[in-house]
Amino acid sequence: MPGRHSESLVWRRDDWRRLPISQQPSWPDPAALDAVRNRLATLPPLTSVADVRRLEVSLAKAAAGRAFLLQAGDCAEPMDASGTAAVRGKNRLIGAMAEAISEHTGLPTVTVGRIGGQFAKPRSRPTETVDGRELPAFRGEMVNDPRPDARLRTPDPHRLLGAYRAAKAVLNELYIIAHETAARRLPDAWPTPAPTAPDDEAAPVRSWDGSLRSLLGGYGETRRDPDGGWAHTGLWTSHEALVLDYEEALVRRDPQTGEWFLLSTHLPWIGERTRRLDEAHVAFHAGIANPVGCKIGPTTTPEEVVRLCEVLNPSRKPGRLTLISRMGADAVRDRLPGLVRAVRAAGHPVVWVCDPMHGNTELLPDGRKTRRVARIAAEIRGFFEVLRDAGEWPGGLHLEVADGDSAECLGEGGPASAEEIGDGYRTLCDPRLNEKQSITIADLVGRLLAG
Ligand code: PEP
Ligand code: MN
Repeated sequence: MPGRHSESLVWRRDDWRRLPISQQPSWPDPAALDAVRNRLATLPPLTSVADVRRLEVSLAKAAAGRAFLLQAGDCAEPMDASGTAAVRGKNRLIGAMAEAISEHTGLPTVTVGRIGGQFAKPRSRPTETVDGRELPAFRGEMVNDPRPDARLRTPDPHRLLGAYRAAKAVLNELYIIAHETAARRLPDAWPTPAPTAPDDEAAPVRSWDGSLRSLLGGYGETRRDPDGGWAHTGLWTSHEALVLDYEEALVRRDPQTGEWFLLSTHLPWIGERTRRLDEAHVAFHAGIANPVGCKIGPTTTPEEVVRLCEVLNPSRKPGRLTLISRMGADAVRDRLPGLVRAVRAAGHPVVWVCDPMHGNTELLPDGRKTRRVARIAAEIRGFFEVLRDAGEWPGGLHLEVADGDSAECLGEGGPASAEEIGDGYRTLCDPRLNEKQSITIADLVGRLLAG
């Protein structure tokens, strides 16, 4: 079978190196970086081609209005053991939200975490001021340490191997959860510490294939229970594929078809700051056979979005491309309709997803970031209105969430004002909805979809 793109015959995983690129760390030691890249390239992939294809089939249903995509998790995922320990809670919360949405729609909800690799962050400024000192900005634990110390903030290429090991531990935990779910024996937590990274880095990652017969074809979607309700089945993984030195090393060729797959995750996405058509990230994602996402913000033009569709999905394969609109509550009704019309007129099948978080960020007096649930809900309402008016299916929702009672976003089950935030502000980067706020938003979305 020829590759998805005839270009895949000529695309090379390092083509991006010839193009302008944004938001990459300034690695201090090129020789150490090369050694790490070479090591990563010899390690087993983290995901399997079969699973990546399975997710694309689910996304094709979301493109066609027969499913809804819920993608959620941390803004920046921690790479230490706390990241693995949090997997169960994320699966439970995102699963509960998905069930709530399916109850309203009567359709499966596809569940994807920002998980198992969401370790790199684009930043609006290369440095930040902490207590009067100018420090390199925190760029995600794949790159540097969040603690405000100049030495710890220096990018360290060895962290790329740490990212691989952390992702592997998370994937391992998701695999165990998948089996427990299939066996209908899913504890909230194990009394023993969460499983750590397998000791042997070179051991292959287990995949969802094989023994999960009862979930095959249904993993990563809510499914109808015998009693008529909806039950979640586990999370696919996704992250912003930002640091291309890491991602390139995890591109592998499918021996059966010759296609290139990015096997660091199931669903990589391109961020708002790296979606320029003539830049490295778009060229890189154009050549991989995974389903891919792309954020589109308020400066996106109709011509640009149609070009993105042409470049990222030239064969117009349903499920291949997810467009994640992050306009802001004030701009969505103004900016989004032209983009939806243009993509529709050009005949591109996409999953239209609403990210109501990243266009609605505010600064607190102390410099930390927050978001108001009311603004998040307002953007969601605007998004649904625009898609409905255009005759298109609002295919999904993209959120930053944390299980439990964190206090990072304001209103509706969280702190009412900045003064009430207290010590519940724990995020490594952007503010996340807490559990109550997340369920409120899921209910709202379910009602809008049903209504
Ligand atoms: C993010 O998803 O955390 C992010 C940085 O988003 P965006 O690229 O839309 O700004
Ligand atoms: Mn974020």
